[in-house]
Amino acid sequence: MKTILPGQTIGIIGGGQLGRMMGLAAKEAGFRIAVLDPTMDSPCGQIADIRIVAPYNDETALEELGEVSDVITYEFENIDYDGLKRLSEIAYVPQGAELVRITQNRATEKSEIKASGAPVANYVTAETFDELKGKINTAGFPCIVKTTFGGYDGKGQVKLDSPKDIHEAESLFEHSSCIAEAFIPFTKEISVIIQRNPDGESYCLPIAENIHKDHILHESIVPARVGPEVIAQAEAAAKQIADHLELVGTLAVEMFVLENDEIIINELAPRPHNSGHYSIEACNVSQFHQHIRAVCGWPLRKPKLWAPSIMVNVLGEHVAPLKKVIVNYPDWSVHLYGKAEAKEKRKMGHVTIMTDDIEKTLQDIDSTSIWA
Ligand code: AMP
Repeated sequence: MKTILPGQTIGIIGGGQLGRMMGLAAKEAGFRIAVLDPTMDSPCGQIADIRIVAPYNDETALEELGEVSDVITYEFENIDYDGLKRLSEIAYVPQGAELVRITQNRATEKSEIKASGAPVANYVTAETFDELKGKINTAGFPCIVKTTFGGYDGKGQVKLDSPKDIHEAESLFEHSSCIAEAFIPFTKEISVIIQRNPDGESYCLPIAENIHKDHILHESIVPARVGPEVIAQAEAAAKQIADHLELVGTLAVEMFVLENDEIIINELAPRPHNSGHYSIEACNVSQFHQHIRAVCGWPLRKPKLWAPSIMVNVLGEHVAPLKKVIVNYPDWSVHLYGKAEAKEKRKMGHVTIMTDDIEKTLQDIDSTSIWA
């Protein structure tokens, strides 16, 4: 296992908030940060030592990043797989490129989860709308049709309640091939963030329960309000998937919890995840610190939760009302990512609140009317 030490440079592909928080964690220990992002003033660019401003798939820029960095990581999965693969031939990319290839495509992602032995919803894949029509009964109704590539935050998906709705899925094929999967009547959504170093040492962070609004993560509650059997199953499934994929770095595993306490894996993200931001304050090791330890070839720290916590996202429309009242909440840890324009629904920051009384704090959050 190659060890990268403070003073050396960590190159990050992608300059968003995840890169920024990774970079801040690394800088605390004295690492230098280089970032590749198409914009000059990206959230990570603002805290980086070296900025390379170019598209993610720009070959020369990737080479330049490789030249100035002792290790390369990435902060989001929709980077150019071929570019990352080429870069891994000339620079040290301990995470490799394979995980990006697998998770960029919902079909390969599902088949790899299945191959690991972890449970997924019944699904079928279709290259064309006609193929979908022929196969859809295998997924059954209700089902959700999702584009294979490029969907996020509920974009690129359609729920079909019965065969007569199938035409609603036709336009999805203008963007990409699709998968159709059984609709899961879940009682809760949870996520397990698992992190693994090149020696195969791995730990899960405490499991988050996720509440979405309009398909965008609104709140994460930690620990998730589920029983010990659910936690055991969820951690075992995350470990099975991480070992199967020979993970290095971070994998967020999003799951559904059913009425009978069984779990089903929804999707994977091969990077730090919004539902793990609480760990910055609430754990003895944040997802960003642990990610840096993993890619720098350090032994991992066993995560410990200091106190139950709620993380609530700050979208564009929440910034102004939040700023009006924030000084009145000394217990709220506010993170704003330095994005210039507070567009509606854009993730601008988050707030983490450690609490002894989750239910009361949930009510307190609602009573502010910032998130009404
Ligand atoms: P995804 O982009 O796959 O994470 O889906 C976004 C959201 O849609 C999830 O967080 C769920 O709330 C919902 N969803 C996705 N797939 C399913 C499913 N098979 N059954 C029920 N709800 C789903």
